[in-house]
Formats: sequence, C-alpha cells, structure tokens
Amino acid sequence: MFTYLLSIGLMTTVIADAPHFEPKPLPYPYDALSPAISEETMRYHHDKHYVGYILKLNELTAGTPYAAMPLEQIILESDGPLFNNAAQVWNHEFFFEQLTPKPHDGPKGPLLEAINRDFGSLDGLHTAIKDAAAALFGSGWVWLVENDQGELSILSTRNAGTPIRHGVKPLLTLDVWEHAYYIDYRNRRAEAVAATWRLIDWRVVEKRYEEEREQ
Ligand code: MN
Repeated sequence: MFTYLLSIGLMTTVIADAPHFEPKPLPYPYDALSPAISEETMRYHHDKHYVGYILKLNELTAGTPYAAMPLEQIILESDGPLFNNAAQVWNHEFFFEQLTPKPHDGPKGPLLEAINRDFGSLDGLHTAIKDAAAALFGSGWVWLVENDQGELSILSTRNAGTPIRHGVKPLLTLDVWEHAYYIDYRNRRAEAVAATWRLIDWRVVEKRYEEEREQ
C-alpha cells in the first residue's frame, strides 16, 4: 500500500513538473535542404535556437497559469520575455513546416488566383517579399498574410513579432534573423531569401489558405 501511494505521489510529481512544451522534430532530415540551407545551419537553427526558445518558455511558464495554456493564447496574453519565447516557438514551427527538399511546382488554384489578384503575379509576390526582407532593419520575419476581407499582403515583424498579434492569418514566412543564414550566406541576406524562396512547399501554403477560406 505504501509503495502504491508512493508511486502515485511520484507520478503526480512527474506529471506536474513535466515540460508543457515539447520541441517538434523537423519534418525532413537536417541535411535535406542542402546546399541551399546546410545541415550545420539546420542543426543550429532547430536544435539550438528553436529548442532554446522551448526550454526558456518552459522555464518561464513553470508553476504559472501559462503552463496550461495553448501557445497561441500565451502569445495573445503576454509581453516581454514570455511573449518573445512563445512567439519564436510558434514562428519557427510555422517556418520549418513550410519548407521542402522535394522538387515542386509553384502555387496553384485559389491561392495562385489570390496572389495574381493582389500582387499581379507570383513574381510580383516574390519581389514584394525580397523588398520587405531587404528593408527590415535588424532581426525579424517577413510574412504573406490574409486579412478578414480575404486580401493578401506582406507584413514585416521585428524580433519575435507574429501575425497572431496583428489579427491577420499567416500563410507563409521568411526568417530574416541572421541565425537563419549567417553560416551559409554571411551578410548576404538577399541570397539567403532567394534560396529559401525556392524551398517553399506550396502545398503547405495552399492548405493554410484553404483552411482560412473554410472558416
Ligand atoms: Mn530563426
């Protein structure tokens, strides 16, 4: 009986202390995006930077009501270091998910129609993203977003900034923090953005767009 109660007590302790947020593995091998993005960059980006935000998030939320909240709710209700780490976790999972090592076509269907309507063409969207990445001073993210009227536009956010706090639906993002490209491209941000553009999994972006349209 004593052993049983001790076991229950230990289990409870373990569950209460278990980290709320677990890192998601990359959806492809670390070297899959090479040479556009090297294995070394992906190991640092995922295992050091992204996992680092997870560990910090768990540390900051431990023993607080935030430990039981979904990530999106923390992002909406926090500021300072808690917001920074929560938003960086969300932004990175969104970024890693939309890259692919496989040869693929560009966007199709309703997403392509919306891109043509609001940017003139896929090249027009690419130019708008390149310009926004070049104009963003310091670290941040460049996003393709959809507003509640269904219009697409480019949003640049500084540091951990995320569209979740801007009331728009994110469809696609480019990480323009130096840690995303400095090993491979040094200070050549434009080259890094161009290389990442060619790795975008448009099937994932189309799915995000369709999910928005169904709401
Ligand atoms: Mn990053």
